[in-house]
Amino acid sequence: ADTTPLARGLPVPQGISKSAFLAAIEELRSTLGADHVVLNDQTITNGWYMEHPNTHDIMSLFDTEEFIASAVVYPGSVTDVQSIVKWANKHLIPIFPISIGRNLGYGGSAPRVRGSVTVDLGRRMNRILDINVDDFTCLVEPGVTFYALYEEIQRRGLGDKVWIDTPDLGGGSVIGNTLERGVGYTPYGDHWMCHSGLEVVLPSVGDDGKVPVMRTGMGALGTGGENVWQCFPYGYGPHNDGIFSQSNFGIVTKMGMTLMPNPGGYESYAYTFPNESDYAPLIDIIRPLRIANILENVAQLRQGLQTLTVEGRPRTAYYNGSGPIPDAVVREHQRKTPTGECAWVYYGMAYGPPHVRAHKLAIIDAEFKRIPGCRKIDPASMPEDDYYWSRDHIASGTPDLEELRWVNWMPNGAHICFSPVSPTRGADAEKLYAMAKRWHTEQGLDLMMAFLVGMREMHLIIEIVFDVTDKEMKKRAEKCLRGMIDEAASLGYGEYRTHLALMDQVAGTYNWNDNALMKFNNQLKDAIDPNGILAPGRCGIWPARYRNRGWEL
Ligand code: FAD
Repeated sequence: ADTTPLARGLPVPQGISKSAFLAAIEELRSTLGADHVVLNDQTITNGWYMEHPNTHDIMSLFDTEEFIASAVVYPGSVTDVQSIVKWANKHLIPIFPISIGRNLGYGGSAPRVRGSVTVDLGRRMNRILDINVDDFTCLVEPGVTFYALYEEIQRRGLGDKVWIDTPDLGGGSVIGNTLERGVGYTPYGDHWMCHSGLEVVLPSVGDDGKVPVMRTGMGALGTGGENVWQCFPYGYGPHNDGIFSQSNFGIVTKMGMTLMPNPGGYESYAYTFPNESDYAPLIDIIRPLRIANILENVAQLRQGLQTLTVEGRPRTAYYNGSGPIPDAVVREHQRKTPTGECAWVYYGMAYGPPHVRAHKLAIIDAEFKRIPGCRKIDPASMPEDDYYWSRDHIASGTPDLEELRWVNWMPNGAHICFSPVSPTRGADAEKLYAMAKRWHTEQGLDLMMAFLVGMREMHLIIEIVFDVTDKEMKKRAEKCLRGMIDEAASLGYGEYRTHLALMDQVAGTYNWNDNALMKFNNQLKDAIDPNGILAPGRCGIWPARYRNRGWEL
């Protein structure tokens, strides 16, 4: 870990004097216990994925001390969370909840407003409250990671029966990832779709002096709904869960999640495609197969360069020139890899007993081979440490960390995502690909991308990998991202999720009918959080106290 003194000193939140802030911190210490309130007034330690800081973003696009916490608090219970909310309202101090804080590529653990007090829920609130093997559901607290859930299932001897779904990296929080509407790669890959029931601490203090806690769905029943909370997500009346995802309307303290039954076997496969232009007809082949569930998991169509980046070696091992790495260089190096030369590679998984898999795999094979030069990879030819097996783990619900390999592409490797959504159509993919390629070429950046097919839509995930110490490169990355966001919006595409630094811009593209959606969100924000203490600015939603006062980026 690299530790340096804070250049700008204690990041006291705006609107409160340092002495008043320190007095407020002392007050919170007396409520929560001194050990559970830690001031961020000395040094900044960068760490890495496993030992990530909870005060700032290790992959910061701006100066690291721009989005930084003044203190971190560690609640141990729902009551503690309520006390923190009450305290924040009393002193008008912004608070920013994280579950684990490994939201890398989207802001890490950093708050949007400098000097916010980070509420690190995961450190102490990390219980798996229930794993129900009859209903295939679980109920978790914020600190439960995909690894922790997986390991507990194995520890209880349920591994043969119950699967989880994990994103590419297993160290994140089940709750944090789901609230970000993150994805994994089994048939249960749409995490938000698979959740059932939230418990939420609301951000204001009621007339009775209490901070409300509510449960959604069946959990709102007088009994707390425990017997049925995880079986039916909707309950009765408006389905409110949505407003607590990608927002700043509440602090989630419990969440129900559905689990996948072991499908009775699985088999991963991969196909390569030789030409750059192959992706468009291939995506048109993928669409009906995915919607009909012949392609059963979140399909990953990765661009050829990604077969090199996942080797985990730096770019300089392949190319020393400036500008995007040329295609001919990529191909020359690919020839030495087990995957071989290709413009695209598709990683998939078939589920079920052999006869069920065989039926689907035969259809997939015939359809994919309509693309001239399509080649099926023989898994037996893939070495044990090849990235192929990481995809095999992830698509069978086994957490992994191998995806971090491509972050090494640059020295002091960091990355930031551009993640627009489009229909699963070749013509749409062509527009996005051409646009992304042009912006990357103009800014001299390597284009690293994959199409992830959810069902009827694709997330195009572009990772701009940059050297976090290289200010000039970060400027180019920002220019590229901002350019792509605006151009994609003009073509009719929007991001499914974005980095803290880009939230205002992305939210601004969802501006149909005179910004009706943001006006509604603002109305909700002002009603639910009148003092504007909870995660101001997250997802472009600013409370009245901050709105149009120069905070937007
Ligand atoms: P947190 O950082 O804890 O939470 C994310 C955000 O949600 C917080 O900043 C906060 O604003 C809000 N939040 C969290 N908890 C609460 C709460 N209890 N109440 C209210 N608000 C809350 N992501 C994917 O989805 N799929 C992938 O396949 C994937 N692959 C990745 C690969 C690499 C190499 C890297 C570096 C990142 C990848 N990511 C991926 C992004 C990220 O690592 C994961 O999404 C990760 O799970 C998010 O971090 P977290 O779970 O620790 O969430």
